[in-house]
Amino acid sequence: MSYTIINPATGESMETIEHATVDETDAAIERARVAQKEWAGFTPAERAQALRTFARTVEADVETLAALEVRNSGHPIGQARWEANHVTNVLDYYSAAPERLLGKQIPVAGGIDITFNEPLGVVGIITPWNFPMTIASWGFAPALAAGNAVVLKPAEWTPLTSLRLAELGEKAGLPAGLFQVIAGKGSVVGNRFITNETVRKVVFTGSTEVGKDIMRGAADQIKRVTLELGGKSANIVFADADVDKAAATAPYSVFENAGQDCCARSRILVQKSVLDQFMEGLETAVKGVVVGDPTKDATEVGPLVHANHKATVESYLDKANVVFRGSAPDGPGNWFAPTVALSRGLDDPCMTDEIFGPIVTVHAFEDEADAVEIANATEFGLSGSIWTRAIGRALRVSRAVESGNLSVNSHSSVRYNTPFGGFKQSGLGRELGPDAPLHFTEEKNVFIPTD
Ligand code: NAD
Repeated sequence: MSYTIINPATGESMETIEHATVDETDAAIERARVAQKEWAGFTPAERAQALRTFARTVEADVETLAALEVRNSGHPIGQARWEANHVTNVLDYYSAAPERLLGKQIPVAGGIDITFNEPLGVVGIITPWNFPMTIASWGFAPALAAGNAVVLKPAEWTPLTSLRLAELGEKAGLPAGLFQVIAGKGSVVGNRFITNETVRKVVFTGSTEVGKDIMRGAADQIKRVTLELGGKSANIVFADADVDKAAATAPYSVFENAGQDCCARSRILVQKSVLDQFMEGLETAVKGVVVGDPTKDATEVGPLVHANHKATVESYLDKANVVFRGSAPDGPGNWFAPTVALSRGLDDPCMTDEIFGPIVTVHAFEDEADAVEIANATEFGLSGSIWTRAIGRALRVSRAVESGNLSVNSHSSVRYNTPFGGFKQSGLGRELGPDAPLHFTEEKNVFIPTD
């Protein structure tokens, strides 16, 4: 089996990637098992140094990685460079972890009690197609730092940067087999991570539907899981906010990466009294979004990742109450103009479904209680923004919205040094931040009597 990569901006076929079989997956997992033993024999300082060398090797390759993401995923070059640099930052950040897995000394009677954070062994990572290399690094960097080996399966459509990262790991001198990337199908390679007993933890980022299957499958072996799943996040704009700024920035909270972002604020909730002012500012901002050739520095938004995905996103146009659209190129490529719809109610599919494309739905609300209720009227709980000048309200609403990553008067959500993950059906567990390496260890308790 194989898959031919298609450039999403041009429709041109590129290289063909061979897909691994179950036997090949098992062989990779076995190589990882052996490599992990070698890695565990490194001193903490040696592991730290090896990760720093890996970071420098990625840093020297940023232009190549970025160019690969442009032609494989259609990401604008500026964004792709940011992503490649982010991998470097994540590796640098977690290179400090091997020397800081401190454990505890716990006061007990009759002796001393200490804890160790032991590596799990082999970790399987399954990534989606929307941010291939950044999401990969959120798993592999802390997992390696905690003393594990990693086998990673990228999404079928977008394997190129992950495969390149594995080559860079080898070039940086990581033990052979310690960090392997195997291209293949979810139902074959991904599923084998669940059923092969040597894999002790699976980190899955993708749809909530597949995440549920992974969680069910993992139950068989009480396999550890981290799940980063879907979202339908709310951008809440109160009348006391800087409404013009909220409107001007809203497109970039949902249309970046062509809306293919789990944190996309794809529901904009606006207080009724400022709805007209907000919509006016939003229209100007949406018409200013530069959608086009991802190789150009000025481009803000590229094409959708695949023609099949474009067809899915397009199917929502029939259901949406579209009020205005931005622009996008014609011709070959999976182009889709940023689209703004007005909500037809809370059960409007554009208010409930994670469309994962550049369609945003605006819904008007009455007061704070109404805003919170609507924001929480979803099975998801990943991200969101709150626009208000009242600090008390910012705090109240931040606490009331059932979501893992909120941002006040801004739209930031992912930083490598802060925890990231979802409430409700948006996920289980957290990635990034100072504690991530601990999620790749078992805590061991040892008592030593002093008599
Ligand atoms: P997907 O669930 O279709 O696929 C994700 C990965 O799982 C792919 O590598 C795929 O091959 C693999 N897979 C599919 N079936 C499998 C199976 N039965 N067993 C094991 N692996 C299997 O998701 P996608 O379409 O690639 O990505 C889009 C989704 O990812 C969206 O829902 C988005 O919200 C979510 N996402 C979440 C986060 C987050 O951090 N919460 C980040 C990015 C994307």
